[in-house]
Amino acid sequence: MFYPVDAFGPIEGSLAIRKGRIVYLGPEDAGKRLIGPKTKKVDLLGRAVTPGLIDAHSHLLGLGRDLSQVDLRGAATFDEVVRRVRAAAAKTPAGLWVRGRGWDQNLWPGQAFPEHAALTAAVPDHPVWLTRVDGHAALLNAKALALVGLTDDSKDPSGGRYLRDAAGHLSGVLVDNAMDVHPSDPAANPFAARPEELQAALVAAGKECVALGLTTVTDMGVDAEAVAAYQALRERKALPLRAALFLTDEPALLQSWFERGPLLDKDEARLTVRGVKLYADGALGSRGAALIEPYADDPGNMGLLTSSQDHMADIVRRAVASGFQVGIHAIGDRGNLVALDALEQGLARHSSNRTQAPSDPRCRIEHAQVMRVQDIQRMARLGIIASMQPTHATSDMPWAPARVGERRLAGAYAWRKVLNASGRLALGSDFPVESPDPRLGLYAAITRQDLKGNPPGGWLPSEKLTRVEALRGFTIDAARSLFLDDQVGTLTVGKRADLVVWGRDPMSIPEIEIPQAEIDFTYVDGERVFARAGVR
Ligand SMILES: [Zn+2]
Repeated sequence: MFYPVDAFGPIEGSLAIRKGRIVYLGPEDAGKRLIGPKTKKVDLLGRAVTPGLIDAHSHLLGLGRDLSQVDLRGAATFDEVVRRVRAAAAKTPAGLWVRGRGWDQNLWPGQAFPEHAALTAAVPDHPVWLTRVDGHAALLNAKALALVGLTDDSKDPSGGRYLRDAAGHLSGVLVDNAMDVHPSDPAANPFAARPEELQAALVAAGKECVALGLTTVTDMGVDAEAVAAYQALRERKALPLRAALFLTDEPALLQSWFERGPLLDKDEARLTVRGVKLYADGALGSRGAALIEPYADDPGNMGLLTSSQDHMADIVRRAVASGFQVGIHAIGDRGNLVALDALEQGLARHSSNRTQAPSDPRCRIEHAQVMRVQDIQRMARLGIIASMQPTHATSDMPWAPARVGERRLAGAYAWRKVLNASGRLALGSDFPVESPDPRLGLYAAITRQDLKGNPPGGWLPSEKLTRVEALRGFTIDAARSLFLDDQVGTLTVGKRADLVVWGRDPMSIPEIEIPQAEIDFTYVDGERVFARAGVR
């Protein structure tokens, strides 16, 4: 069964691909005339086929950099942590940083914070940086402490601490602001990466994504080094899927791109650079999202605006005049209000100055998480695309009501209201903040439940999407939000052959099974880039 996500609905039959594009979708008999001596035939045995899935808001490099770290979650002893790090160091040239994350001393006998001696003895030649499971502490070995310039004489910074052993020596554990190390030598910087490390991270992340059925991803907020890594991979044809990049808000970077114009890759649409990412406010969990009235659980606090309206309007005006679109991160109702004001201001100034104004700039609000209902209507009137993440709702539902209070929930994670107002809704995951797995996004969009089916009926159930709407959000509506809808997003003759062959049909199995529906094959440009082990 093919789900083309077009006006005509599901269709039984066959699909033909030539030179990476769909050339036929229809009844099997009529398609047979296309079969030639060189045609490769694949019997899909009646399996479900959808367009390749698209993540409208993600961070591919962030996922890659996470994957390149040693996974220390679940380590039951400090010895186990040391063992895993030593194994990773053995595969890393001496002198390069080995990073890991996820240790938790509460799982270990005695539950004491670790000291670096055993780690230093096991891994003497690589600097090591191991982030605690909550991100609020890191353990360094001796080589790393020396590189970042810490000694027993170092004084605790404000808001941070260097833990010490009984004799007063550094234990290697840095807490909170003590982790803000700024070595002048780039080789001493635990967070810097060489170009080949960036490229390897992108390839690893891309492979992870195609195994999950993703064929187009985004990277929201990239710097010049990241763009260069993407371009190098693009030239070597080493990127396993499509990527659309949004530049980070950095004056020199934006100036140079506005001068040269967007990278459209019209021939193959593998790498697109035509977006700019801005931030209106922070996040709800840490009460950094800007609200019009105080937090319900923190009456003195209204959150933080992180960019001025004038700054954002100026970037919108220049970006759109240069052929770019803008995506503004906005979580709180005030963040969203200011983002809309900035977009209206920037787009209005633009249309009055008579440059070749694209009539359809496709600017976006990222997250659009808590909005006043009237602002949802206004967003639609202004033609602003909402880019939302279903799993954010199911991750946040245990505590979000306490933050925003009952009344503001009317416009919180309000996919249904947004879709009804705008007619379109671009969906994504914000990976690696959430899992990159789009099946979890589809499931969350359809159920508004956690993976165990709670709460019964779903959280704020009137905002649920249908399966068809959720699939549109992860295909054609996401493609449109990236100006890629003429290339991908539906199974339409003439479009690029990006598709997913499912082991179980996500459009008909019980909702609770959607997260486990197998991805059997993933195709990008008609090429099979993923096949599930043992499946033919
Ligand atoms: Zn993000």
